[in-house]
Amino acid sequence: SAPVLELAGLSLSYRRRGRWHAAVRGLSLQVAPGEAVGLVGESGCGKSTVAMAALGYLPGNARIDQGAVRVAGVDLAGLSPAALRRLRGGTVAAVYQSPGAALNPSLTVGEQVAEVYRLHGGLDGGAARAAAGRMLARVRIPDPERLLAAYPYQLSGGMQQRVVIAMALAGDPRLLILDEPTTALDATVQGEILALFATLRVELRVALLFISHDLGVVRTVCDRVGVMYAGELVEVGSAQALFQQPAHPYTASLIDCIPDFRHRWEDARLAAIPGLPPGLGEQPRGCAFAPRCPVARSVCEERPIPLAAVADGRMSRCLFPEQTAPPGGNRRPATI
Ligand code: ATP
Ligand code: MG
Repeated sequence: SAPVLELAGLSLSYRRRGRWHAAVRGLSLQVAPGEAVGLVGESGCGKSTVAMAALGYLPGNARIDQGAVRVAGVDLAGLSPAALRRLRGGTVAAVYQSPGAALNPSLTVGEQVAEVYRLHGGLDGGAARAAAGRMLARVRIPDPERLLAAYPYQLSGGMQQRVVIAMALAGDPRLLILDEPTTALDATVQGEILALFATLRVELRVALLFISHDLGVVRTVCDRVGVMYAGELVEVGSAQALFQQPAHPYTASLIDCIPDFRHRWEDARLAAIPGLPPGLGEQPRGCAFAPRCPVARSVCEERPIPLAAVADGRMSRCLFPEQTAPPGGNRRPATI
């Protein structure tokens, strides 16, 4: 069936001090109904820009240069502002890093979740409140009845995020966009929320676009993963294949950055790739990762590298995908 999200050759720019700078280039990615797709990469690579484009919610200084965004087969470019507002919180909903910013401090949890049922589900007062209570139970909030009357400040960060997830699901979305939804939470709570996403996805048959800088987090929930570097996809493939045998050196570096719990201290020092990605709007002639890449040769910097098919239905933007060592190899930087 048709994808719930289709990003087709999407290029986006931001205006800064009167000049346009490319933030995302030629990105194509699809999310099938019920599928969980991860999008990972370092800070500034364009993940949140993709999320905002998928929600039809770009800031005023952003423009789409090329390509299209289709949600459940509908091109967002053709929708009126009112139609876009109906879409958001309905067909497609989002959960962000900070639940505090997503919740209204002066309304109870019950009022906020019920409001979504009124707006998107057409339910009235009592029915909306009852549905809100059921949804709080769905997101595994203990004692939902009591929680309906609570204010956000009375809840822990993890509970607040569960409420935000309940609000996102109350509109009965086909696609949930998760932009670093567990980054602000401590490790135990993060694990619980990740398990919740995995469960809800099956129970509610909702597709996920899961954005994170942490490949380890995405791995626990997603079927497929897209790896972004400097505004471009550099690898796309099944989560399993990508971990077993990354086909791009940048993916391999990200795998090496996942904290290993047995060697927490040592890995804390290794948890960064040396060097920096190019800045916004700086487009190198060849591979953008080449200056930081352990296997790059001069040919890599001569011309743009296309995203090309490699083994297992995967795509890689690397001239030497087979030379990417398996995880745990000797690519680790000796010092930072
Ligand atoms: P992070 O992991 O830090 O959230 P990200 O991958 O989500 O990063 P984006 O927020 O999409 O990255 O930013 C991509 C690029 O666009 C960055 O260089 C960023 O500075 C720039 N950018 C983002 N929002 C704007 C904006 N409103 N105006 C101008 N530039 C922006
Ligand atoms: Mg972001």
